[in-house]
Amino acid sequence: MFRRAANLSGDPERDLTAIAADALGILARAGIARGELGAIGLSSPGPIDPETRCILSPPNLPGWVDVPAPAVLENTFGCPCFLENDANSAALAEWHFGAAKGTRDAVYLTMSTGVGGGLIIGGRLHRGIGWCAGEVGHAPVEWNGRPCACGLRGCLEAYVGGRAWTQHLRLKASAGGRVALLAGGKDHIQPEHLVAAAREGDGFALAELGRFNDYLARSLVQTICTVAPEVIVLGTIPTAAGERLCFEPIRRRVREHVWPRLGERVRIVPAALGDRLPYYAGICAALAGIQEGRGSGS
Ligand SMILES: [Zn+2]
Repeated sequence: MFRRAANLSGDPERDLTAIAADALGILARAGIARGELGAIGLSSPGPIDPETRCILSPPNLPGWVDVPAPAVLENTFGCPCFLENDANSAALAEWHFGAAKGTRDAVYLTMSTGVGGGLIIGGRLHRGIGWCAGEVGHAPVEWNGRPCACGLRGCLEAYVGGRAWTQHLRLKASAGGRVALLAGGKDHIQPEHLVAAAREGDGFALAELGRFNDYLARSLVQTICTVAPEVIVLGTIPTAAGERLCFEPIRRRVREHVWPRLGERVRIVPAALGDRLPYYAGICAALAGIQEGRGSGS
């Protein structure tokens, strides 16, 4: 397996050439000829357009606007390339290989930069119109609440998304407090510093994490009532914070607001794939395209 920091230039053509060169290098090291490649899976930050197969304008890919990345890679490699948004492909990865393996109905949520989500319903990825299903990060948990990067207000992402939460913590933490101290200054605070301070019992950190859990639980209750999944897999921040600080309080809050006969059966668990997730996500993007019978140009 091979991993390289994105280090994007802002020029998609140049970036795609670099990505293709890396992929060719991987094939060469594995002793696989270009013509032997069956399919490429491309797991990309959204939004993506399933009709045109373009990466539209993800906030984390500056300069990438309406980029037909699958078509470019197909030209280079001569095999189909299947594009999937990263939350959906991560959901597929945890379902095929990780914490949701063996279930038919599963929800995956990640709180990395924003809040991404994917739904497996009846043993297959549920995409919905425009492949927007599972985007619970942009359903409101507060009417007229904090502004969200998407332009709406009060979205779950504005409260528990990695970037929004980091900004909030930098604003709220006191300069001499434990969290700022662990971070080496208020402006360097990251979610992991908050989690570390909460582990030590710091009052500010515990209160902020409590609010984080509260908003997340509020959203999960809606999702559970809509999907009734066997399992909800939570990646990134909750997985890093662990059982005592996140999962136990979240399960408790959820069960207070869901019918007992439903709440008792839904498992809420940490993601299992860790650093290996992106590799599996790419493979799953390709697998989904093959299984759904999508060819190049569709
Ligand atoms: Zn939003």
